[in-house]
Amino acid sequence: MRILLVEDDPLLGEGLQSSLKMEGYAVDWLRDGESAWRSLRIESFDLMVLDLGLPDISGLEVLKRVRQQEIDLPVLILTARDALEDRVLGLDSGADDYLIKPFDLDELTARLRVLSRRHAGRRDPIVRHGKIELNPANRQVRVDGQKISLTRREFNLLSMLLENAGQVQTKARLQQALYGWEEDIESNTLEVYIHHLRRKLGKDLITTVRGVGYMVPEDEAVE
Ligand code: CA
Repeated sequence: MRILLVEDDPLLGEGLQSSLKMEGYAVDWLRDGESAWRSLRIESFDLMVLDLGLPDISGLEVLKRVRQQEIDLPVLILTARDALEDRVLGLDSGADDYLIKPFDLDELTARLRVLSRRHAGRRDPIVRHGKIELNPANRQVRVDGQKISLTRREFNLLSMLLENAGQVQTKARLQQALYGWEEDIESNTLEVYIHHLRRKLGKDLITTVRGVGYMVPEDEAVE
């Protein structure tokens, strides 16, 4: 999962970036509205956490542009305690949820999980595929009820593939979901993680789409 974090407060931004990274998200942090809008037009993200009070164009303006351009992205806005009007305006301008500062990090991550679930069209908090059960809240994976131990990046990669079962995920997209901008990507690491997942979960789970990327075929037991 790749998050765009837009927050001008350096302390809060830094704290959020490192905590969200610990939760397994790839986090790109920008400090003003214009640069957020620029990168939204050329890059793809899975979620956006957007502060409304920004130094140049407001978060509200960024949000309006996102919705006008029909960028398909769940957005959670951050607002000040006394700014009821902002929250109402934010929701009416297309925000999916909001949090009032100061907030608890656990609440933020729980809300982000709800947003991605809703975005994927799921009610069930557990992602199920055949014998696999993936729980985003405690980051556990079970196969036939047996707990499987995965590293943080293996887990993230698996959840991307399962959440998008039936659709090919390009290598670029998967790499973006695993790493933020500031991290160096070695070109073969994605292949290495895929190899580990196949070893742990069975070699038939993930299909290689030559020259494009990878996919988990749709689960035939469901739907
Ligand atoms: Ca601010």
